[in-house]
Amino acid sequence: MSSKNKVIIIGGGISGKLAARVLSDVYKEVIILERDSEPEGPTSRKGAPQGEHLHALLHAGEYGLEKLFPGITEKFYESGAVKINSTIDLAWFHHGAWKIRYDGGYSTTLQTRPHLEWHIEQYIKRIPNIKVRYNQVVQDFLYSEAENRIIGVQLKNDPLLADLVVDSSGVSSLTSNWLHKRGTHVPEEKVEINLSYISKQFQLDENQERDWKIKMIYPDPPKEKIGGTISKIEGNHYIVTIMGYHNAVNDKEVLKDDMCFIELSKKLPRLDIYQEIENAASLTKTSLYRIPHLVWRRIEKMKLPDGLLLIGDTFCRIDPVFGQGMSIAILEALALQKLIHKDTRQLVPAVFHKKAAKIIAPIWNMVLTEDFRYPDTHGKKPFGLSIQLWYAKNIFLLSAQNQEVYNAFVKVMNLVNPITSLMRPRIIKMVLNRTFTNARKP
Ligand SMILES: Cc1cc2nc3c(=O)[nH]c(=O)nc-3n(C[C@H](O)[C@H](O)[C@H](O)COP(=O)(O)OP(=O)(O)OC[C@H]3O[C@@H](n4cnc5c(N)ncnc54)[C@H](O)[C@@H]3O)c2cc1C
Repeated sequence: MSSKNKVIIIGGGISGKLAARVLSDVYKEVIILERDSEPEGPTSRKGAPQGEHLHALLHAGEYGLEKLFPGITEKFYESGAVKINSTIDLAWFHHGAWKIRYDGGYSTTLQTRPHLEWHIEQYIKRIPNIKVRYNQVVQDFLYSEAENRIIGVQLKNDPLLADLVVDSSGVSSLTSNWLHKRGTHVPEEKVEINLSYISKQFQLDENQERDWKIKMIYPDPPKEKIGGTISKIEGNHYIVTIMGYHNAVNDKEVLKDDMCFIELSKKLPRLDIYQEIENAASLTKTSLYRIPHLVWRRIEKMKLPDGLLLIGDTFCRIDPVFGQGMSIAILEALALQKLIHKDTRQLVPAVFHKKAAKIIAPIWNMVLTEDFRYPDTHGKKPFGLSIQLWYAKNIFLLSAQNQEVYNAFVKVMNLVNPITSLMRPRIIKMVLNRTFTNARKP
């Protein structure tokens, strides 16, 4: 049970694989312990049920993934992922208006999450010092009281020692339960949104001309609570995902049969998606995923035992409607890479947790602002909420008319630029002009 230079990673989801990739640069042995069986192809799996729903990869995520796995974007396309121009091929109805369509020079990839994860897995398998052990459920941590250090993990039959344990087991993480059992308080921000995701894949009529590859029909809150997206994916198929905030969707009803899903699409703010799927061939069963609340475990504010590092959804689960979770995990992995290459002798998890919190904070704030448009959203409100709501609404509506504003907004949404880039004097002036012009209207 010698454990020099060994890392154990709990959970082989996206963030577990990314952490393995980065840590394999400096640790001799990296072991991923995954409770699911080895996937035989790009299909959804029990341990990551969210994979049956639309997963968008933002520009920052795509760029970061390419840095970690050179050539991966091309591999996506070779096996059928769809390359789109982000502002021409996306038709987006948002807060009651269509965004303008123009060539902003950015491309994005459309594919299912299992397809994306499968390709990452193929890269991981080629890294000689990473071993993935499937069908391994980590049951507990091994802890040295004397050192206040996590020294390994307990599997069903074996203890496994390591120099570092990474918890990437997702939102129902092992760490929070373990700390809770020991009576340690984990400061956390929890926001109740009672969101349901319902998805299904279709084969659409190939003969019909379409001027989009992905169409998003988002609600105008608070009066509308249901939104939806139809997106082309690999295999010339389409995935339709419908999201309903605050129990707006009757989950039991929608799972009854295919027609119930099609009926649900009629409740979207526009009938575009319904018209595409009403006569289309359904390819999969209807999948449901519920997100009662968002949670950000503020572990950067507490003293964790040494030897334990948290990454991905284990740290923070954000509202998935804006498609940021995987990109956050990628940005965190890049931050971890920077840290370990700066000082290869010693990795201090607490330093990483502080860096990760800085990545999460502005994104969490941006997304929460939107969630708090609904009066039923409960939790700690972002600072200056009413001003943020007013400003963001103006940006959304200007994005339907003004290329400069939409361009700036797209870069923020894709985590390429910080949110402060939407507060440049020219943009503030446009927001104020819009407000005063509307106020003067009879
Ligand atoms: C409905 C929905 C839609 C989403 N849409 C998007 C999107 O459009 N774009 C985007 O970027 N993000 C999206 N996300 C977020 C994204 O799925 C996650 O942020 C991302 O997958 C990172 O997850 P993770 O690897 O940290 O955790 P997970 O994906 O949850 O992976 C955890 C892994 O740990 C394993 N595991 C758990 N416990 C144990 C244990 N005890 N022992 C061994 N293994 C264990 C699980 O089997 C699993 O493989 C969405 C999320 C949801 C819920």
